[in-house]
Amino acid sequence: MNITQKIKVELANLKKKGAEYADARFYPSRETESITFLQGNLKECRSSATTGIGVRVLYNGAWGFASSSLTENLPALFGSAFENAVAASNRLSFPVKLANRKPITAEYSSPRRIDPFDISVSEKLDFLRKIDKKLEHNIVAQRISYVTSDKQKIIFIDTDGSHIEKNICDTFAGMKVIGVEKNGNSQERSYELGGDGFGTRGWEALVSGDKFPENADRIVDELSQILVAESAPKDTRSVILLPGIMFLQTHEVIGHALELDRILGYELSYAGGSFVRLEDFGKLRYGSDKLTVRADGTLPNSPGSYGYDDDGVECQDTVLIDKGILKNAITSRQTIVEANEKAGEKIFEKAGGCARASNFNRIPLERMTNINIDPGNDGSLNDIITSTESGIVLDGARSWSIGSNREQFHFANEIGWLVKDGEKGEVVKNPTYSSDTLPFWRSLSAVGDKSTAELVYVPNCGKGLPSQQMYLGHLIPVCKFDNVKTGE
Ligand SMILES: [Zn+2]
Repeated sequence: MNITQKIKVELANLKKKGAEYADARFYPSRETESITFLQGNLKECRSSATTGIGVRVLYNGAWGFASSSLTENLPALFGSAFENAVAASNRLSFPVKLANRKPITAEYSSPRRIDPFDISVSEKLDFLRKIDKKLEHNIVAQRISYVTSDKQKIIFIDTDGSHIEKNICDTFAGMKVIGVEKNGNSQERSYELGGDGFGTRGWEALVSGDKFPENADRIVDELSQILVAESAPKDTRSVILLPGIMFLQTHEVIGHALELDRILGYELSYAGGSFVRLEDFGKLRYGSDKLTVRADGTLPNSPGSYGYDDDGVECQDTVLIDKGILKNAITSRQTIVEANEKAGEKIFEKAGGCARASNFNRIPLERMTNINIDPGNDGSLNDIITSTESGIVLDGARSWSIGSNREQFHFANEIGWLVKDGEKGEVVKNPTYSSDTLPFWRSLSAVGDKSTAELVYVPNCGKGLPSQQMYLGHLIPVCKFDNVKTGE
């Protein structure tokens, strides 16, 4: 018997013992490699390879979980998951029920042309060395660049008869330059590799074309302007957010706020809750009618597209906010049943395909897919600037602070450009903006067209206890918000 046949035998045994449902995620291999370059020298080169199985068992409304990197004694592993479920079933606060879905037999491979693990470390070092050279400049006090590759094969099998095999490969890369002002304060400018949501996401995403080298030149040039710039004004004006900050704005106060487990209170002890209530769905005006947001796991190519989630549900394109009105959440099979029962009405029709675990030894949680904003009809970045009387164009996330229920926020940016009477003016340093969440999204007055949209990769979204780092993306156009407090 091969290992998948053995897993099927163990799952059948769990059913015989009284389990309502069980699934196993077998990782034949998970490889990661991370290389960091600092000041022209290799700072770190880390690689890891793991293999293992995670087993979830639902018994009398309670989950039990067990995982092991050893695959020799499957009866012990599956037995341990079952015993954990039995123990948990005596301490239930709300019995778990799973939304129905048809069993799936499928395969998914993320699109790639060049496997990053086929590229030697010395070739990767050569690439980073060339980037480092471009970042070397007399105004740059510190320069950092990195590339991280991740490849995972996952086989999902459940007691409903699902069998899904996934091959997912991602390449992340970024760089940052730090400079020191005359007064001793530091400034920085950074860039993270992104895409357009199409194409492929292997090693070629990094090395084909001049995108990475060109952005190296740009961030050094912009840092040189920041270092001699005046401070950003403290007042109330329009903020025009480029994708390099708009992605985080969307991530923190739409994406995290709409995770249904968080809305139900399951993340309170760690990542916080959400101001959104179950009765808000279908009614709450989250933003202006220019705001349409989706959780799109079907985008052809992004770290937030993975074919099928760890509930065995297919990725979907779900409208979360439709012309400003809250419609849906980031959901799993478990949470939609609980939410519908607690609300006393059917708010959520079907599981959204958003349950993901970061590895075999973690349980699936609601995680963002690609949380995107639909491009609008307000033209190019230039068109938006031209129609702005008093504003500031902002880019780069330097630091941020978010209310524990995502009800307000404060972002500090790397760079700002003043806008006066429709013209983009000088660079300013230390720009910040802050607002309550709902008034901010309701003040959305312009959304750029497709030409302004960029897919920003997020390699480090954290959630859960024990902690889970997740990959995703945001395909985001330039957006303008009016009457926003800046510089505080
Ligand atoms: Zn996050």
